Amino acid sequence: MTGRASGPLLPGATLGILGGGQLARMMALEARRMGYRVRVLDPDPHGPAASVADGCVAGAFDDAEAAIRLATTVDVVTLDTEHVPAEVLERVQCIVPLRPSASVLRTVQDRLEQRRFLDRLGVPQTPWAPVDDAASLHAAAAAVGTPLVLKTRRAGYDGKGQAFASDPSQLLEAWDRIGRAPAVAERFVRFEREVSVLLARHPDGALAFYPLVENAHRRHILHASRVPAVVPAGIEEQARRIAARIAEALDHVGVMAVEMFLTREGGLLVNEIAPRTHNSGHYTLGACATSQFEQHVRAVCGLPLGDPALLSPAIMLNLLGELWRDGPPDWTAVLRHPRARLHLYGKRDARPGRKMGHVLVIDDDRDRAEHTVREIERALGIEPTDEPRSASPSERVAPGPSRNH
Ligand code: AMP
Repeated sequence: MTGRASGPLLPGATLGILGGGQLARMMALEARRMGYRVRVLDPDPHGPAASVADGCVAGAFDDAEAAIRLATTVDVVTLDTEHVPAEVLERVQCIVPLRPSASVLRTVQDRLEQRRFLDRLGVPQTPWAPVDDAASLHAAAAAVGTPLVLKTRRAGYDGKGQAFASDPSQLLEAWDRIGRAPAVAERFVRFEREVSVLLARHPDGALAFYPLVENAHRRHILHASRVPAVVPAGIEEQARRIAARIAEALDHVGVMAVEMFLTREGGLLVNEIAPRTHNSGHYTLGACATSQFEQHVRAVCGLPLGDPALLSPAIMLNLLGELWRDGPPDWTAVLRHPRARLHLYGKRDARPGRKMGHVLVIDDDRDRAEHTVREIERALGIEPTDEPRSASPSERVAPGPSRNH
């Protein structure tokens, strides 16, 4: 049986979050502002979300017993990562409403299932093929062509569990780099831009769309997002239609991001689905009438969706762990800019590539916003953000070990 909420869950109710990272933190802060109570599942009671929540159940996001303990003490459960095992989620949703449901996560958390689902929907994507052994590796390369990217079926994120092969002679070495794990081979896309659609879906099917965002990645990790994206006429509408079909076919509830490539020929290809709040939507907290975090709370609690309207153009710049190499950065470099908002996630250990915080520059004058970002990058020692461009394959998909979220 699936737990069902009979009506909207109003402030005073308790929201449970599986996973206690920065997404859960910002969601918890927004939920508490609205008068909800929040409990998170996290091994560290001082983690980013646990430290701002009303309560914490100690446990990793794949700890079934701990997830069940959380489920028995809250009114609705949601997540900040798609990597919670579907079996754990199925147990949770027998106890309390889970939004999005276990079936959404089952489809999305396995890249192969996700690609098959998108094919069944007829959504445009890069040619792909499954890889299980050396024979299927070579067959996949013959089918999709090179250059290609190998991506582990499970547990990949921010380029983890990905390896690039520019020609067939590099296939085995690339597969070794991802631990010979079951994978999907994808033709490498020489894209013009990367964009993402962020939407929210209510349990009754209502949709709210945020404006299209343009994303710049560096070493597979999101570096900066600019909104609104500057794209040819019709692209935003097309991107929204694709994202809406995905959300509806999954019967998703909550915020969802769909990452897409805009090709040099002007077509859109879906790269991946994130059935949750997303890094490319951080700008909404400050630049939109309703943040993605409030919107997610509204959707999972069955409240009417909020207004996603953009109040001002904005640029979001991620702050990664390498900036802490000589201790915490000098934040006056950010704080002296009146239009820059500093967000820090309260993570104690700074590791290279770890998302520690972000800066949001909100400015009607887009040139001035770009200038402010450049100044902040220079002062913090961040390699300057390029204008969007097509990087060479080796710059974008370099070897990386497979690792859990
Ligand atoms: P992902 O984890 O799938 O979102 O990949 C991280 C980043 O690697 C993407 O945002 C792209 O910049 C790059 N990337 C992933 N897959 C491909 C592909 N098939 N072709 C070109 N670039 C890719």
